[in-house]
Amino acid sequence: MKYILVSGGVISGIGKGVIASSTGLLLKTLGFNVTAIKIDPYMNIDAGTMSPTEHGEVFVLDDGGEADLDLGNYERYLNVTLGRDNNITTGKIYREVIEKERKGDYLGKTVQVIPHVTDAIQDWVERVAQIPVDESDQAPDLGGTVGDIESAPFVEAMRQFQFRVGKDNFALLHVSLVPSINGELKTKPTQASIRDLRGLGLMPDLIACRCPAPLPLSVVSKISMFCHVANEQVVAVHDVSSLYHVPLLLKDQGLVKFLQHRLKLDQIRLPEPRV
Ligand code: ADP
Repeated sequence: MKYILVSGGVISGIGKGVIASSTGLLLKTLGFNVTAIKIDPYMNIDAGTMSPTEHGEVFVLDDGGEADLDLGNYERYLNVTLGRDNNITTGKIYREVIEKERKGDYLGKTVQVIPHVTDAIQDWVERVAQIPVDESDQAPDLGGTVGDIESAPFVEAMRQFQFRVGKDNFALLHVSLVPSINGELKTKPTQASIRDLRGLGLMPDLIACRCPAPLPLSVVSKISMFCHVANEQVVAVHDVSSLYHVPLLLKDQGLVKFLQHRLKLDQIRLPEPRV
């Protein structure tokens, strides 16, 4: 199983969902089974009780699970059917840990955020990544595209997760913002958000820059230099009139080749195509 974590910095609503779905779609075109998991760090068990004026409409999944609209994006882009467990919230994780504690599963131990909550997050991601999500009935090869990690236990769980599953099985795609102020593209917010990420022990493999227009090479090189990544690890996702252009934008900038190499995807034996 290969995992791609999609995180976001600078502002919310930066396009993590669209970039995660687009990445999954590109990998699907290579023949992989792909699934998606979204992490929302709120205490609500699900989005069903949250105000639609604040959070957008609730998306109801086939199993009745009530989730954020991003799950709908994943389903449409990836042509999969997800369930309630594909959306992790702080509330769900704590509920699971507290239920286990009440049953006595921790055998006299002091239950703590690290390791019990962080372990529960990692176990959840590993379990849900194995659930078939399309008619092929095969467990996905690339699982757990995780967006929206905003709170410490999830970041820490993912930091540990990269070692649990191994370097060749985990890549981090960080979405950042390159705004234009008086016509000048600003890289400081991206530099600051990558610094924060590294400080938490997460090293970006790819930096996807949301920007108003395609980025000139000079700006890509500046981000590469200040964020300690190669030029090809910086991809620009400018504002487009249709979100369905985003997969092509990413493909044209070598995202597929990069992930193939980084995650050693050519070593995975693909299932025979069904006729
Ligand atoms: P996040 O997952 O970070 O909250 P989303 O992927 O849900 O963000 O995107 C937030 C909004 O931004 C959506 O309404 C989407 O339509 C818009 N958006 C995302 N990427 C682009 C883009 N490249 N061009 C134009 N609009 C975009």
